[in-house]
Amino acid sequence: MTNSPKRPVELSPEEWKKRLTPEQYQVARAKGTERAFTGEYWNSKTPGTYRCVCCGTPLFSSDTKFDSGTGWPSFWEPVEGSNVREVEDRSLTMRRTEVVCAACDAHLGHVFPDGPQPTGLRYCMNSASLRLDPDLPAATDESDGPDETDG
Ligand SMILES: [Zn+2]
Repeated sequence: MTNSPKRPVELSPEEWKKRLTPEQYQVARAKGTERAFTGEYWNSKTPGTYRCVCCGTPLFSSDTKFDSGTGWPSFWEPVEGSNVREVEDRSLTMRRTEVVCAACDAHLGHVFPDGPQPTGLRYCMNSASLRLDPDLPAATDESDGPDETDG
């Protein structure tokens, strides 16, 4: 167990602007929402870990990604509950729960209680707040290899 203490990443808006694309900045730092079906990852099926675009904290695994039909990448569980923080969002009349990166406060999206089992949650994320770290292809971990019988 290497549970290093979380160190919040604090940068000025100017610093973030240098590190991020305008869209990433707008979503992750200014709490914007990308348009549905336009993001990089809503339809991605590449196995890997989705990290915070700002600070690299692992947030979601492709193992928990599901097709929600919303046009945003959706997950039923974070990689580690302590890596995300949930904040009550009263910015609209509708009450929603905002999800932010626990390390750097990047706006990620919202969580809704209408997801699939086992959690019943739907983490509706913005691609612009995520960076996919693809899994390396496993070298010899294929259980369905060719059935060869050498004489
Ligand atoms: Zn972060």
